[in-house]
Amino acid sequence: MLVSLIKQNVINLSAYKVNDFECKAKLDANESPFGFDISPEALNLVKTNKYPDPEARELRAILSKMWDVPPENILHGNGSDELIYYCIMATGGPVLYPTPTFVMYSIIAKSLSEATLPIALNEDFELDTDAIIKTIHKKNPRIIFISSPNNPTGNAFAVENIHRIIMESKGLVVVDEAYQSFSDKPSFVSYIGNYDNLVVMKTLSKIGFAALRLGFVIGREDIIKEINKLRLPYNVNSLSQTIAVDLLSKKQSELSEDIQTIISERYRLMERLNEFNALRVYPSDSNFFLIKPLRMKGVELYSKLLESGVAVKSFGAAVPALNDCLRVTVGTPEENTFFLNCIEKILNTKRTT
Ligand code: PMP
Repeated sequence: MLVSLIKQNVINLSAYKVNDFECKAKLDANESPFGFDISPEALNLVKTNKYPDPEARELRAILSKMWDVPPENILHGNGSDELIYYCIMATGGPVLYPTPTFVMYSIIAKSLSEATLPIALNEDFELDTDAIIKTIHKKNPRIIFISSPNNPTGNAFAVENIHRIIMESKGLVVVDEAYQSFSDKPSFVSYIGNYDNLVVMKTLSKIGFAALRLGFVIGREDIIKEINKLRLPYNVNSLSQTIAVDLLSKKQSELSEDIQTIISERYRLMERLNEFNALRVYPSDSNFFLIKPLRMKGVELYSKLLESGVAVKSFGAAVPALNDCLRVTVGTPEENTFFLNCIEKILNTKRTT
């Protein structure tokens, strides 16, 4: 096939890169360290010759109870990545997002040839609400993505800043709550009735179901109905639907325990890492956090960790605001202790306390 047939906006894109390391502690992809066994009874319910339920009714019914919204307000996707596509396709651009943030907002906007409006976060990684509102008034973005807690910075944004942006925007505001389970800040799902331009995106990927690819948009019925017109038929397969229904109906207490363990391990990790003078540790409301070595380059620490058997995420020069930062996902208690021991050996510094 002639590459010249490919549209220029696609040629200009870079593919989403995923590292596939074999290592002792894989702390680079914001996955949950805790998975679930799949019951044979659930597997037996899957009919391989039949299409899945296109409306994912059972799954949406369970989630409707979990999130306290009617099923009509929930749209299912093959991961929330797919729903980012649908949202941007539905509204068109310009697409506004703070930066640095989850890269798929810009990759998908560009793949759909939509204009992007990246607005830099403040130095403390909070939303620059004044700059965002100025751009709203000047450029009238048709859709705004706010990941809170934000990937890759880890912090949840001030709730009042998000409210201001929703109120000032004439476009759709997507509050992406991929990491909300790990935060003290309340979900925006309860505000869906208050704003006609708000939808909330959720995923099960970070709480132990990444393999199933299950993402959701929650919003007013009128908006959900329109976005649903773009959804490919049978976008969520039967295995994912059946396994998720089985696990979500039986394993709620394990799910909450796992989330609590991740949060307390995050506190333990960050407290220990804060004892190193040669390291800056950034605040987090997520299942990951940023660190920055102060006496070596970020890539050097990254390589040394990888040699020791720990994979973390490095941003390098691609994201100037994160120069020298590494993103560390909270692992199992054993993986976290292994990571701490590796850091101690690499930094070769005695703790100050
Ligand atoms: N939103 C944010 C903020 C994310 O970090 C991610 C995953 N890295 C996603 C959405 C996509 O999640 P999913 O696995 O549901 O496609």
